[in-house]
Formats: sequence, C-alpha cells, structure tokens
Amino acid sequence: MQEQMLTDEHRMFRDAFRKFVEKEIAPYHAQWEKEGQVDKRIWRKAGENGFLGMDVPEEYGGLGVKDFRYNTLIAEELTRVGASGVGYGLHNDIVIPYVLDYGTEAQKQAWLPKLASGEWVSAIAMTEPNTGSDLARVRTTAVRDGDEWVINGQKTFITNGIHSDFVIVVCKTKQDAGAHGISLIVVEEGRAGFERGRNLEKIGLHAQDTAELFFRDVRVPVTNLLGAKTRAFTT
Ligand SMILES: Cc1cc2nc3c(=O)[nH]c(=O)nc-3n(C[C@H](O)[C@H](O)[C@H](O)COP(=O)(O)OP(=O)(O)OC[C@H]3O[C@@H](n4cnc5c(N)ncnc54)[C@H](O)[C@@H]3O)c2cc1C
Repeated sequence: MQEQMLTDEHRMFRDAFRKFVEKEIAPYHAQWEKEGQVDKRIWRKAGENGFLGMDVPEEYGGLGVKDFRYNTLIAEELTRVGASGVGYGLHNDIVIPYVLDYGTEAQKQAWLPKLASGEWVSAIAMTEPNTGSDLARVRTTAVRDGDEWVINGQKTFITNGIHSDFVIVVCKTKQDAGAHGISLIVVEEGRAGFERGRNLEKIGLHAQDTAELFFRDVRVPVTNLLGAKTRAFTT
C-alpha cells in the first residue's frame, strides 16, 4: 500500500504486526511448510494482540475499526516474509464480514468474540468435488427436522479446513431451484458427523491447511442459518 494512504495509527499497527510476524511466524514457517499446516497456537496469539477481527465492534471483542487498510497491512506483512500458510486473510476478510453483515444479534454475540480472539479458526465451505466455478450446483443438502438442520455432503479445497472450528457451509435447502435454493449454515467443531478428510497437497501454500470436509447427518440448530434462507446468492 502506498505510504501516503497510511496514518500514524496504521503505521503503529504495521510495526506491531511486523514484530509479531518476525517473532511468532517467520522463524517457524519453513517447518510448518513441511508439516502442511501452521501451529494452531498462532491464532490465539494473533487474537490476543489485536490482529483478528479488527472491524468487529468492541462489544463483541474486536477493535471496532472498520478500515480495510488494516487487513491489507496484514496481507502485506505476511507476504513480505513469504508466510503464505497463515490463513488470517480468509478469517478477517471473508468469514467475519459474513457474520457482521448477515448475523443476527444473537449470532454476533455467540460467534464474534470467539472469532476475534482466535479461539475459533474459521472457514467457508463452498467447493465440492464436482462443483467449483458453477456454485449453484452444490449437492450438499440441509433438511429441516424440527428445530434442527440435518446436513449431508462433502466439500473440498477448504482453506483452514483442518484447523477450522467454525465453518460457513453452502447448502442446498430447496431442491431443483438452482441458485435460488441455496443457504448458508454454520457448523461448529464438535458437531457429531462433522469430519475432516485429507489435508490436500498443493503446488504452493504448503503450510496452509486446505482440506476435505465431510458432513454425515450433522445436526445444528435452526438458529445456525446465516442470512435469509435460500438467499445465499442474493442480498
Ligand atoms: C489454495 C486453494 C484454496 C481454496 N480455498 C477454498 C475455500 O476456502 N473454500 C472453498 O469453498 N473453495 C476453496 N477453493 C476452491 C476454489 O474456490 C475452486 O477451485 C474454484 O471455485 C474453481 O473450481 P474448480 O477447481 O472445481 O474448477 P472448475 O470449476 O472445474 O474450473 C476449471 C477451469 O475451467 C474454467 N471454467 C469453469 N467453468 C467455465 C465456463 N462456464 N466457461 C469457461 N471456463 C470455465 C475455470 O475458469 C477453470 O480455469 C480453494 C482452491 C484452492 C486452490
């Protein structure tokens, strides 16, 4: 980012994050590349130091600063040392904004503090073995049974897949409706039937856990629906 785009607050944040990267990430990254994943403890450490969920309001445990320049500084500093395996970007730039923009008050209270603290690592599970670009063809289903959704299906290439504690799963909640039958449903670590598959080998990003996820009769409360039902493709 061009220097004139930054204020003194941004520079202080960048300096603090640069020191964090030099101490907690750079010395270990080559080893993490061999292991195919980072040490999960760097998530908590990042949360403790204010490097997760910067735009999460303070009442939910964040810094309360809605300014994407902070997210960009994180990406730049990780890139500077080649730390391609650290999945803060997916967490900060993609998953948390879904909760901020579409979460109910109860969902924000329940989920955001854990995401901003690094207690929970997040992922978003769209892609399936036969469904990449044409996302409307996902086969993972969520069927309502009383006060629960029952989810069945499989996902692949999921960033933070091995470490994830909080996964936004793209599911079909209405059959034969194409893009108009798809919803977002959150599955948390520990739900029966939620399992990890392989941590996939890639030509790069060796320290990033990009994995398969399986959902076999996974039950979550209906309150785990994120945003409006069947409106995942529209606002
Ligand atoms: C490192 C990594 C991390 C990822 N992380 C995630 C994640 O966190 N969550 C997630 O859900 N997914 C993730 N993905 C998956 C990614 O979103 C998919 O790979 C992507 O959507 C493409 O799908 P596909 O691989 O099935 O390719 P395909 O859809 O099979 O496409 C193959 C090729 O065909 C082209 N193509 C497809 N359709 C058309 C068309 N109609 N006309 C012309 N060309 C076409 C595409 O541009 C591409 O070049 C990740 C992938 C990688 C490699």
